[in-house]
Amino acid sequence: MAQETSTDVIIIGAGPVGLFAVFQLGLVRLKAHVVDILDKPGGQCAELYPEKPIYDIPGIPVCTGQELTESLLAQIAPFEPVFHFGEMAASLGKTPDGRWRLTTDAGTVLTAPVLVVAAGGGSFVPKRPPSPEIEAYEGTSVFYAVRRMEEFRGRNIVIAGGGDSALDWTVTLAPLAETLTLVHRRPEFRAAPDMVGKMRALEAEGRIKFEIGQPAVLKGSDGVLEAVQIKRPDGSVLDIAADRLLPFFGLTMKLGPIADFGLNLNENLVPVDTAKFETDTDTVFAIGDINTYPGKLKLILSGFHEAALMAQAAHRYIHPDTVLRFQYMTSSSELQRLLKVA
Ligand SMILES: Cc1cc2nc3c(=O)[nH]c(=O)nc-3n(C[C@H](O)[C@H](O)[C@H](O)COP(=O)(O)OP(=O)(O)OC[C@H]3O[C@@H](n4cnc5c(N)ncnc54)[C@H](O)[C@@H]3O)c2cc1C
Repeated sequence: MAQETSTDVIIIGAGPVGLFAVFQLGLVRLKAHVVDILDKPGGQCAELYPEKPIYDIPGIPVCTGQELTESLLAQIAPFEPVFHFGEMAASLGKTPDGRWRLTTDAGTVLTAPVLVVAAGGGSFVPKRPPSPEIEAYEGTSVFYAVRRMEEFRGRNIVIAGGGDSALDWTVTLAPLAETLTLVHRRPEFRAAPDMVGKMRALEAEGRIKFEIGQPAVLKGSDGVLEAVQIKRPDGSVLDIAADRLLPFFGLTMKLGPIADFGLNLNENLVPVDTAKFETDTDTVFAIGDINTYPGKLKLILSGFHEAALMAQAAHRYIHPDTVLRFQYMTSSSELQRLLKVA
């Protein structure tokens, strides 16, 4: 039988909310192990938009997704979380003494009295354009996320889609690209009107092109793209010379094994109460994009708040006889000692 590692709290997901949960749990002296399928921390921030600026983190006028991740890692370092990257939380059971036993697909077995699900939308899988040969170009000419903007400098880029990601990257990559063509199946966009306005201004200046249609055929060889053939609504086709294609057709959120953990689900989200962010199952909490409640906003700051309340409730379960005293970090030398700043 695999060796079990015991901890106070198991966190599924090392996205921004899972990371901040480590901090809040640390303040109430609870240790955490964090499991993530990805090979690195940061969730959507690191995987989908590491170089994009975020403007709505309180007290930080602007930071990129990667910078936020690095700041969170620095903030939680004093609490020495144990990360299990590249491992999927695969099955959930109970120990004979009533603790949670989580097993990953790599065979790691963790046990703890409290489980925190911070799994975002689950493992995110980009939706592919319906071009049969697309797989041959993925990772060489076709990308579903921009990890390093420099890789797109001087390229002939086609961006496909009409949502926020397509419009954001059109505006962001236009100054770097040799040529950039945005392709969308209709002239209306789902993206924020401000971004649509910026894209239209670039088009009017001749710095980008906009074509109505859908990528249909990819032309090239050995994973090297030479042109994207688009099909227009009237059935005609147009070849656009391109060595990079960025399809942004949204993400299929695959909840994966968490769907079989026996939690109450509402359209793949986990309903929680807003006093503790606990699920219908005692000692199982859900925070961040994975949860749902009246008025929920899928924002990083909402997840941070949820993590703070979750940690208080987790402490009550684990140390029922200890009363938590509310303290400000600015004036509590006890909390400052925990952070190793006093
Ligand atoms: C392009 C874009 C721009 C955005 N801009 C902003 C913005 O400006 N401001 C803002 O507040 N929000 C923004 N968001 C939303 C923000 O990124 C999310 O609200 C935030 O990432 C949610 O954090 P999370 O930790 O709950 O989930 P996620 O970031 O999704 O992290 C969840 C983690 O759980 C892991 N996971 C899932 N299932 C399992 C499993 N079974 N086993 C192991 N690991 C698992 C995943 O791999 C992932 O790393 C943006 C989102 C996108 C896509």
